[in-house]
Amino acid sequence: MRVLVYGAGQLAQMMYLAGAPLGIEVEAVDVNTETLVHPVSKLPLEATLAQAIEAADALTVEFEHVPEHLLEQAEKSGKLMPSMEAILVGADRVREKALLDNLQVANCPHRIVTQLDELDRCLQELGDKLIIKASRDGYDGYGQWRLTEAAQLEDIKASLSGLNLQQVPLIVEQMLSFDRELSLIGVRSKSGEIKVYPLTENLHYQGQLHVSVAPAPGVTQAIWQQAQEIFTRLAQGMQYTGVLAVEMFQCGDTLLVNELAPRVHNSGHWTNSGSDTSQFENHLRAIVGLPLGDTQARTPAAMVNIIGCGAFSRDLLSIPGCHLHWYGKTVREKRKMGHINLTADNYQQLGNKMAQLAGYVPSEAFPMLPDEAEKLS
Ligand code: ATP
Ligand code: MG
Ligand code: MG
Repeated sequence: MRVLVYGAGQLAQMMYLAGAPLGIEVEAVDVNTETLVHPVSKLPLEATLAQAIEAADALTVEFEHVPEHLLEQAEKSGKLMPSMEAILVGADRVREKALLDNLQVANCPHRIVTQLDELDRCLQELGDKLIIKASRDGYDGYGQWRLTEAAQLEDIKASLSGLNLQQVPLIVEQMLSFDRELSLIGVRSKSGEIKVYPLTENLHYQGQLHVSVAPAPGVTQAIWQQAQEIFTRLAQGMQYTGVLAVEMFQCGDTLLVNELAPRVHNSGHWTNSGSDTSQFENHLRAIVGLPLGDTQARTPAAMVNIIGCGAFSRDLLSIPGCHLHWYGKTVREKRKMGHINLTADNYQQLGNKMAQLAGYVPSEAFPMLPDEAEKLS
């Protein structure tokens, strides 16, 4: 079987690695050059894009910001999963908020802004701590402006003045003081079967995911029920096929959805070590029509992103249950270079292993590690 992935980054690479034992051949499309490449070596492949679409059993994406003409071409084949509509929900915060509101899924208080002077009213209505997000093309916290006091409004307006808000509106959100960030990764098959992984707790630094812990410690039955209901409502509402990631804020006993990713997700990378079937394998199984695999956690697991850093000792592999996933990219500041998965028999041991890991890596690139290690152990 063949699967064509739009995007040729690490997520395509990890789908390729998951597909190999199943006999599923994964090819990647470099969406800038519109050519086919091998998902690991990134070397060009023989076929044209049109030939590869024809030969594929399923088409999918590793990121949501795929140019629309390519999505249209893919959708026409009848083999794109999830659908173009679901991918556009992930790519456009205006569509995303509309879907959440239509399906009555609780989300962050927000306004859609198409003219800069509407920001004054946002301040009055949402309070004077705001996060302003470009509705398209943002990731890892890029395309966001934070307003923490009303006096910053004029400066922020000045920095937004070059944007065409009629074409790409802003989403202005109330800045929440949530208890923590959680995500739910789940998968829906073509026939509508749904399986979800346990909730994952996510630690961000400067708008970027640094550490995930799964199953998220201390999840109450009420929160777990809510999370499953949210996932089911979204996946059914979109008639979704494949893996879907739902990012949420926990505020007391309530979950508010932050955003959706219509694909495998960084906060699900722990599933390669901590669960029976990884998110990558389950995504492939769903889109080619194979039975879904078990999504339960086998042990507590942590995923630590390697960001903007390539120089560290590979001796970290001496920690039992420690696995390195290196993406083979050129090091750049703030770039996700790879990740490290850790598993342990219990949370305390997981904390101890995180503390050990901190001894192998430069502390400035891993600012969340010591505190999280301490919290768990
Ligand atoms: P991603 O890489 O996850 O796609 P992104 O650039 O799309 O990131 P968001 O997920 O919307 O951006 O925001 C990044 C982070 O900023 C969140 O994980 C959270 O830590 C913080 N954040 C976003 N929105 C809010 C909010 N309304 N209130 C408080 N914090 C927020
Ligand atoms: Mg995002
Ligand atoms: Mg996010």
